[in-house]
Amino acid sequence: MAALINIRRDVTDTFYRYKMEKIQTKIEGKGNGIKTVITNLSSIANSLARDGNIVIKYFGFELGAQTNTNPADDRWIINGAHEAAKLQDSLDGFINRFVLCKKCKNPETDFVYKDGRILLDCKACGQRSDVDIRLKLSGFILKNQEKKSKSSKAERKAARRAKQNGNKDGSGSEDRNSENGANNEENGFDGSDGDANGFEKVDSPVAATDEQDEHEWAVDMDPAAVRARQQSLPDEFKQKMSLEEQEDGEGGGHTAYDQLGDWIQAEAKDKGGIDKVDDVHVYLKAQELGIESKHRTVLVLVQTLFNQNICSQVPKRSSMLKKIISGSEKHEKALLGGTERLVAALGDEYPDLYNQIVKVLQLYYHYDLLSEDVATKWGTRASKKYVDIATSKKIRKSAEPFLRWLEEAEEDSSEEDE
Ligand SMILES: [Zn+2]
Repeated sequence: MAALINIRRDVTDTFYRYKMEKIQTKIEGKGNGIKTVITNLSSIANSLARDGNIVIKYFGFELGAQTNTNPADDRWIINGAHEAAKLQDSLDGFINRFVLCKKCKNPETDFVYKDGRILLDCKACGQRSDVDIRLKLSGFILKNQEKKSKSSKAERKAARRAKQNGNKDGSGSEDRNSENGANNEENGFDGSDGDANGFEKVDSPVAATDEQDEHEWAVDMDPAAVRARQQSLPDEFKQKMSLEEQEDGEGGGHTAYDQLGDWIQAEAKDKGGIDKVDDVHVYLKAQELGIESKHRTVLVLVQTLFNQNICSQVPKRSSMLKKIISGSEKHEKALLGGTERLVAALGDEYPDLYNQIVKVLQLYYHYDLLSEDVATKWGTRASKKYVDIATSKKIRKSAEPFLRWLEEAEEDSSEEDE
């Protein structure tokens, strides 16, 4: 994986909190068919809290080259041969214009759309500053947003209808599919996206694959079946499989997850407190263990990095967690599961933790670690997957104000839509 660099490359401080991967590219094909694949664009876009298709489009405009959008296989392509260093320079321009707060230069911003303007809403200082609307990419972002808000309105309706029909599980993946579909329409939106050059068409929805994955595991977790499948796999997959196999089992020996947990605790002891353990080091350790993208890793991190001071700890760890969670439902569920375990473990000693649950969930939501969908699903049903059922119920009861707030927010916004 790529080295981490500061999002603001003019900041030379090694401990600068906001990092992203250095751009990695691969040149493929030759002659007229030569193209550049940015192999880690999703990760970079995620660190910048922007959609991948906006980032790739920026390169397209800057370089006057064709690009693809939202490839299902995560292969982000720019036509022609482009050096990684040059793309990195170009990315600085994107970050300056479309990410950094104009007042405090912090990259923790969200787009807010108002009267045909794009505002950068800064989570650090609260400032809202204008993105230059004359930039080509601004037009693309606005069109993109229009389509998205149209489709999300339709999605919400579909989801509500599905809920009424008792089809709870269908709504989540349906949402993502249709969002994917809407984004696909972006192909060719400015006339420069034709696929004459062999661009992959985006057919299979990524989110659905993830869902299927989980279902598959749920069905086949029977140990005999797992062993049988393992026998038939090449060696390099066996290691990976056994990691997965241990996911739900307790006491399955000293797993990579145990090692990560132990390492974090040792570091905390060494440095004189858990809050002094550096995010980047934690991430690198997980990477070294090969589990930096696993949902079970989230479970470990929540239980080791957080304690009774969780409310002040979440903001500081949010960018690292976001990188690992990256909007995956499975990971978000692990975040909630880990939080349940944390509260269950410390709740007797610190009963006030139950009162903090609403705040914790709000922080998760605010920092994009938790989506409305996953939170709502989680809230509707107690589960003994992570803690005993009584504790699980107690936690959800404490979470009620947050869940109600989500519901009301949704009602408000759909009223606005209609
Ligand atoms: Zn700011």
